[in-house]
Amino acid sequence: MSDKKGIVYLVGIGPGSEGLLAPDAALAIESADTIVGYTGYLEMIASRLVGKRALGRELGEETARGELAIEIAERGGIVAVVSSGDAGIYGMAGVVQEVAAKRRSEVEIVVIPGVTAACSAAARLGAPLAHDWASISLSDLLTPWDVITKRVQAAARADFVIALYNPTSKTRAHRFAAIVELLLRWRSPETPVGLVENAYRPGENIAIVRLGDLLTAHVTMFTIVIVGSSKTFVDRSRMITPRIYAAKTIETLDDEAEPIERPAAIERDDPVDPRVRRSEVGDSILARSFELIDAELGVRPRDPAERAILRRTIHASADFDYVHNIRFGPGAIEAAVRGLRAGGTILVDVEMLRAGIRSDWAGELGVEIACGLNHPACLELARTKGLTRTAAGIRLALERAGAGTIVAIGNAPTAIQELIRMVQEGFPPPACAIGVPVGFVGVEEAKQQLSMQRYFPYLTSAGRKGGTAVVAAIVNALLEIARDGADP
Ligand code: SAH
Repeated sequence: MSDKKGIVYLVGIGPGSEGLLAPDAALAIESADTIVGYTGYLEMIASRLVGKRALGRELGEETARGELAIEIAERGGIVAVVSSGDAGIYGMAGVVQEVAAKRRSEVEIVVIPGVTAACSAAARLGAPLAHDWASISLSDLLTPWDVITKRVQAAARADFVIALYNPTSKTRAHRFAAIVELLLRWRSPETPVGLVENAYRPGENIAIVRLGDLLTAHVTMFTIVIVGSSKTFVDRSRMITPRIYAAKTIETLDDEAEPIERPAAIERDDPVDPRVRRSEVGDSILARSFELIDAELGVRPRDPAERAILRRTIHASADFDYVHNIRFGPGAIEAAVRGLRAGGTILVDVEMLRAGIRSDWAGELGVEIACGLNHPACLELARTKGLTRTAAGIRLALERAGAGTIVAIGNAPTAIQELIRMVQEGFPPPACAIGVPVGFVGVEEAKQQLSMQRYFPYLTSAGRKGGTAVVAAIVNALLEIARDGADP
């Protein structure tokens, strides 16, 4: 090793045009005596290579290229390793620094950022990356295929805009087809997809297609594919993702899709006489189920009201985890029963919950069941306040409800948060809130918030489990206790 200090510049040269190569990148290349990079990239900057040693190794020998660069610098050379776009994004910056770390090399390394393909393509398309986006390379040379598909699914599910680098090559066109199929599982075929081939280079090609047509579109290894989110739209050949994620629809991932308009015919109460609704066979199956549940429950829990609620919860879910997961806030059962006996309203987050509640028992107590979700003002309120529709529905219904209200939420964690916010703002608190939504996004957090607040009594569960059927079971157990007259 010589005493002369070498240096390795890791240089992103941008998409390919002169104007998008940063002045610092140009300086680094100029000061280098050796340039290392994929031949295709070296051709892009051929005019800057005059008088320098250019080592254009072929693609796929990335580690070898990295080792070569470090070795030359260790001998005192000034080396620029060039990548297209940004050197740190599916480029050489990672490889070279990995090699340096492994060798414990003391060579100086300087990274110079470049305009990555996602940014170049986004500029050509309009503003598809104006909100949260994920970048995934579909190249399975360095990443196992199942890792790639998992990531695509996760990003699609979370409603990210997705930039797909290395979308395809001659050897793996079928894999791109599999990816498109995966995307279609989570996203509408109408979703706009931007295709930019050779951005800012000769042969540039820009197209916007529907996700449903992506398989037949022209996609090559020089294309970057930008798949829109559920919010992305196209206006006069421009692909735009709104900067403001109105109505926070991410959270509606855990809301059951409800039709926005409901036919007036099912708006009215069921005209069937509640007394003829039940069959003896049905009753005996229920009784047998309760016996089996009781046997499996053993002595836990001892409190009869808690046990009645747990029994119905397990009956609705066949899940004994609730023995540990259910959380009865202090005085919650008493408060709910008091509210129901006073003829308070049960306010539900979705119509499906209303359908699961025993309207005959509620009727006997003079208890009404209300849902604000399909109120004519709900959508507008959701839009103007940036709420989910269920949260707006809870707000609307609570504004109209009186004392003794029981709030029941089986579906939308955002409705729990809205309820707490309203009470913090000064709304009279409900008699009790039963918040046991099911799901993955924001659900555990919302339940935790419910059990941490001290404004009103609550009933909830720990973890992800819950849902409309479970909340209906809890409400029915409370109605039964209230109706039967025994003190909880
Ligand atoms: N380091 C590069 C990415 C290298 S991976 C960067 O930051 O941009 C190679 C992939 O990048 C290609 O398969 C293609 O999907 C994308 N890509 C790179 N340059 C591009 C360009 N000018 N136009 C379109 N896509 C490009």
